[in-house]
Amino acid sequence: MARPVAGVRAHTLIITLPGSPKGAKENLSCLLPLLPHACIQCSGLTSSRALHSGGTPALEARSGLPPAPTPSTSTPSTPHTHHHHHHHHHDHPTPRAHTANTLNGPVTSRHRTSPYPLLTVAAATALIARETALTDIVAHPVGPSLVGHILAEDVTAPHPIPAFRASIVDGYAIVHTDGPGVYPVVSVSHASPSPTAPATPLQPGQIARITTGAPVPDGATAVVMVEDTELTRSTADSAEELEVRILASGLRAGENIREIGSDVAPGTVVLHRGDPITAVGGEIGLLASIGRASVQVRRKPVVAVLSTGDEVVAHDREGPLRAGEIRDSNRPALLSAVAASGFATVDLGVAADAAGALEGVLREGLARAAVDVLVTTGGVSMGEMDLLKPTVEQALGGTVHFGRVAMKPGKPTTFATVPVPVPVPVPAGEEGQGGQQQQQQQKKKLLFALPGNPASAIVTYHLFVLPALRAMLGHVPAGLPVVRVVLQADVALDERPEYHRVWIAAGGEDGRLRAWSTGGQRSSRVGSAGGANGVLVLPARGECGGKRGELGVVPRGEVVDAILWGPVGAGGGL
Ligand code: AMP
Ligand code: MG
Repeated sequence: MARPVAGVRAHTLIITLPGSPKGAKENLSCLLPLLPHACIQCSGLTSSRALHSGGTPALEARSGLPPAPTPSTSTPSTPHTHHHHHHHHHDHPTPRAHTANTLNGPVTSRHRTSPYPLLTVAAATALIARETALTDIVAHPVGPSLVGHILAEDVTAPHPIPAFRASIVDGYAIVHTDGPGVYPVVSVSHASPSPTAPATPLQPGQIARITTGAPVPDGATAVVMVEDTELTRSTADSAEELEVRILASGLRAGENIREIGSDVAPGTVVLHRGDPITAVGGEIGLLASIGRASVQVRRKPVVAVLSTGDEVVAHDREGPLRAGEIRDSNRPALLSAVAASGFATVDLGVAADAAGALEGVLREGLARAAVDVLVTTGGVSMGEMDLLKPTVEQALGGTVHFGRVAMKPGKPTTFATVPVPVPVPVPAGEEGQGGQQQQQQQKKKLLFALPGNPASAIVTYHLFVLPALRAMLGHVPAGLPVVRVVLQADVALDERPEYHRVWIAAGGEDGRLRAWSTGGQRSSRVGSAGGANGVLVLPARGECGGKRGELGVVPRGEVVDAILWGPVGAGGGL
């Protein structure tokens, strides 16, 4: 670009983009990757230290190096031994057998094996899909908050674009059969709403000065770029051009002119039902260009998030932890993940491990008219304090569709629907007639009870909850994208299908996606979710033939499926 396009004033970075949507988009796409860095520079931060916080451990974790030994917790890491009942290939001891519980019985009466069948991930996903309905259709204004919605209508252009013959360049309108030579400038056309184009059509032997986007005068059949002209005569005060030499030869009819409706003909379906409105795809610009102030979309579901556990305290509670307490990391993590996916959230706080308390908070969340989906963490294992399933089934009259899934992490993941009465709007004109009772209707709300372990919660959120939210909005397919990645280190297989958190980045000469393990995968290890933008989809060891099954390892360099949680990284390993 010839003109200055960027500068800094005080701590503000100023960037000017060209007016044409295409040019603006091209320039912006080049600038965006540099912006974070540019903003840090502009803000006057004298050091980039903060960018490298986390130090060596963070770098090691991202590069797939074996994790440094973590400080010992209540479950000491034991080496794998042969007298172990199961085969394990991981840096943690086998969890003790799961046990169960009932709502009001004494601990001695609880189940000692889960009464819930162990479902495959595919079966669990199918059950969720069966219970998940599209949200209703609403009119939504065209603007930033439309991003992330799915269109519920075919959008048709009512008028042609452009609405008038417009010049593509700054220059001179001309009759294209006129060759090079000196021509009088008989009129001027600016890109402005006032009709500056003359009433009389341009004749052969005449030219009109014109700016980009301005109406081309009648009679003109081409526009010559100003770069292909010379000024030969001006008025005595030099204020106006009188004659200009056209240097260009061989002009074609219609050159540098956008004809009426040449971008979009009236009646054209410019966007289809089911199309997503993205921040990068130009859909908002397209809707704006055809003059749409609002469009029909599916309403975004609202998600309420609840943590459970007597030991769980708010992450920002002041003071040190007392013995047995842990900070609530699931609620902030899930509220952020849901919000980042573009859905509204409701924070239900932390519920104690007491039947009444849990029931009360769940009822409160379910009763909120705006809430479509509840996501809880904790309380779904086999411990005597794990009250979620019995509360849903026995106190709330809900249906648990599944309570165990054959996966690692996330085995106790539970999915339920709970019927909630919703008021039916009384038809207009019938209000207040003889003390008419408001009718009640049942609506099923979805409840995802995720395991309490932070890593399990975030993995199962992406595997089950986010696709359900996407399905409610109208995304097809609802699932997150699956890509093929080249392993950067050996990965051990588990006896359950495993979702192994990784950092996925583009790069390397072959342009293939690569995956670096984020380190130890024990469910309780918060650190293993740091830096992950996806998970490997690893088959159970027993399902693998050949070398993989024999060794229980997928070797470095092999290609495996991975689910993308977020944008692909630009560079690997860091
Ligand atoms: P639960 O599923 O309730 O048995 O919890 C499993 C593990 O996750 C326990 O070690 C809990 O302390 C831990 N945990 C439960 N909820 C949270 C939470 N909100 N944030 C962090 N850790 C949690
Ligand atoms: Mg708990």
